[in-house]
Amino acid sequence: MSLQLQVNASLKPFNSFGVDVRASLFAEAHSDDDVREALQCSAQRNLPLLVIGGGSNLLLTADVPALVVRMATRGIRQVEADGERVVIEAEAGEVWHSFVLWTLEQGLSGLENLSLIPGTVGAAPMQNIGAYGVEIKDVFAGLTALDRQTGELRDFTLEDCNFGYRDSVFKQQAGRWLILRVRFALSRAPRLRLEYGPVRQRLSEQGIDQPTATDVSRAISSIRSEKLPDPAVLGNAGSFFKNPVVSAALAAELKLAHPGVIGYPQADGRVKLAAGWLIEAAGWKGFRENDAGVHRLQSLVLVNYGSATGLQLLALAQRIQADIEQRFAVQLEMEPNLY
Ligand code: FAD
Ligand code: NAP
Repeated sequence: MSLQLQVNASLKPFNSFGVDVRASLFAEAHSDDDVREALQCSAQRNLPLLVIGGGSNLLLTADVPALVVRMATRGIRQVEADGERVVIEAEAGEVWHSFVLWTLEQGLSGLENLSLIPGTVGAAPMQNIGAYGVEIKDVFAGLTALDRQTGELRDFTLEDCNFGYRDSVFKQQAGRWLILRVRFALSRAPRLRLEYGPVRQRLSEQGIDQPTATDVSRAISSIRSEKLPDPAVLGNAGSFFKNPVVSAALAAELKLAHPGVIGYPQADGRVKLAAGWLIEAAGWKGFRENDAGVHRLQSLVLVNYGSATGLQLLALAQRIQADIEQRFAVQLEMEPNLY
């Protein structure tokens, strides 16, 4: 038996909001065997199992009556190489940004726009993480997950994952699939994605006209460090709301009433609105009540100034949702996973 169980363990160090709640049982999984042992333990004790990675996309609203397992498996390997295309597999517990830097050091491009996203490799497919015009679906080559219902391993292809905007089959079937390792198709020949305005601008400020993938990673990391609060300093879970995708008719109506509204047309004719603009226009930027607040620079980010509870953060989020619906007839959906 190698799984080390802690009873009534604080989850404060394991969620980026820094919310102070406890898990009935807590353990770290360093191998597939640990994962299987955790599944057995949860069944024997009749306790639900909650798998976490870096805890950067969670809102914990109360003590968690579960066995919480933090994925701490490590390992990165090349599994295929065919001309410029190289497939790399990483274990679920690998830290995402360290993995991105490792791929860049190997001269592989594809993940540079996803630099500095907190969390683990195993959680990345959950919401098809995305930033600066790239989502993991764009470089996805497969993953292996454990079916918690049957205990069997299953390999997922791109089609199987049903990836959408901050969405996947793993989110749709929450609690069923435990992701063990993920594969990425990367390229020795960089095909850089620079269409997000601030990226080109930052590179040109640095005098770089012919960027490498590492230049792009550094530029994006510097933009992110300026705009986003560091969870180690100020608790947060990144964007708290997804950007809502609305009908073209509603977007046009909003544009008439609020000429500043920011929208991006989608392939299906609908329009993705910048939720941050709506929240800021409604006056929430910098709002604070007790220790729960809206970040002063980035209105999509809710923050914990110290001792906010998960319920206080949730109540603030719900007030913002109600206000945005009333002002703009737009429903904001929360992005973090609520427990
Ligand atoms: P956790 O928060 O630990 O878990 C998230 C969910 O995944 C939970 O439901 C959990 O049960 C489940 N899960 C975790 N690991 C596994 C596994 N191995 N198998 C099955 N289920 C699992 N997100 C973006 O998409 N783009 C961004 O640019 C971005 N920027 C961020 C910036 C900041 C400052 C912060 C705090 C967050 C940001 N996020 C962003 C959100 C977050 O970093 C990502 O969603 C990340 O992938 C979460 O990883 P995690 O390991 O912390 O997951
Ligand atoms: P930003 O550049 O201020 O832009 C605001 C929003 O407009 C973004 O959310 C983005 O949507 C959208 N947008 C901007 N340029 C676009 C373009 N050329 N085409 C289509 N949509 C465009 O955003 P930001 O807050 O600083 O974040 C920068 C990137 O990092 C974004 O991609 C964002 O999603 C990502 N990010 C995500 C989180 C998270 O927790 N999920 C946290 C921080 C940053 P999209 O979000 O759909 O890209």
